[in-house]
Amino acid sequence: MAIATLHDLYVDELKDLYNAEHQILKALPKMAKAASHAELTQAFKDHLAETKVQVERLEKIFKKLDVSPKGKTCKAMEGLLEEGKDLMAEDADPAVLDAALIAAAQRVEHYEMAGYGCVRTFARLLGYDEAADMLQETLDEEGTADKKLTDLAESVINSEAVSPDTSSN
Ligand code: FE
Ligand code: FE
Ligand code: ZN
Ligand code: FE
Repeated sequence: MAIATLHDLYVDELKDLYNAEHQILKALPKMAKAASHAELTQAFKDHLAETKVQVERLEKIFKKLDVSPKGKTCKAMEGLLEEGKDLMAEDADPAVLDAALIAAAQRVEHYEMAGYGCVRTFARLLGYDEAADMLQETLDEEGTADKKLTDLAESVINSEAVSPDTSSN
């Protein structure tokens, strides 16, 4: 698609996020399975449920624009998830793997936060206030998910990764 106007850019970036969210939908169950800590597994499962709603929000926005959400691959998300997959293939101590999963997941959250922040601002500039509000809602969820991962890392997981011998759920 040719990008000439801010509207074109807005649609292009929404498509990028739509594809990224679908990649995340596939990755989160695997990350939940790979995690050892029950709270981390739960955090991934909770975010999977949120991600489904985020996809629905994007679909509503596309519907209103009368544009198909398909047609773009988010190469950055492919790369981020590929790195996560590589980590899961390592033979790491469970607590270290949990720390690695958090590090990978936080990269994903930050990428999403950057993307949603931009499209939220574009929506506002273009006068799509309803869309801007929905995108802000998703942005807030990504921020909360990121914060939850920080809390889990700082409260238990990182300290267990430092002394793996004592690690157990
Ligand atoms: Fe998301
Ligand atoms: Fe992207
Ligand atoms: Zn997320
Ligand atoms: Fe997310």
